[in-house]
Amino acid sequence: MSGSNLEACSSCRACDLASTRKTVVISRGNPEADLMLIGEAPGAQEDAQGVPFVGRSGRALDQLLWEVELDPERDLYICNAIKCRPPKNRRPKKGELASCRLWLDLQLAVVNPKVIVLTGATAVEAILGIKGGMTQLRGQWQTWDGRSVMPIFHPSYLLRNPSKATGAPLDLTRQDLAAVQQRLCEP
Ligand code: SF4
Repeated sequence: MSGSNLEACSSCRACDLASTRKTVVISRGNPEADLMLIGEAPGAQEDAQGVPFVGRSGRALDQLLWEVELDPERDLYICNAIKCRPPKNRRPKKGELASCRLWLDLQLAVVNPKVIVLTGATAVEAILGIKGGMTQLRGQWQTWDGRSVMPIFHPSYLLRNPSKATGAPLDLTRQDLAAVQQRLCEP
């Protein structure tokens, strides 16, 4: 996002989450990357630091990205569908997602990613308008606005399901990210 837009986003009060957040959590990573990862909403750590995916989930995500040779700071632009933390980490409400969409659309326009990764059901619903279980949706390439879109499990789900077995959520997510890495290399 450009400087003035960033400033406007940092002081946004367009929905009720403005009254409970500590900071507006906009992005981390590279705004010129071909890959944009969109999650649900900031958690406590993110709210405190003003940076997305920096808590346990973020560290788990970074580890998986490194495993498929994607550098989280160089190869991705990382953000959330909602920029302010919902109280007690509840799911964002429809109205909040709608209010915050302006900022997400601006980020999409500025970064102009070739490939988008959506982590978890809220991000999938926000971008693709598809409601459904991630077990069915993950790993299935979608197209949105002329871009390749890959839904994956949210890293917080992976922390709750840490099995390293073949075919377990962790293994499937590694496969999904490897497919993303491959798609980025295609002309
Ligand atoms: S969640 Fe989005 S729309 Fe709501 S106050 Fe924060 S930045 Fe503004």
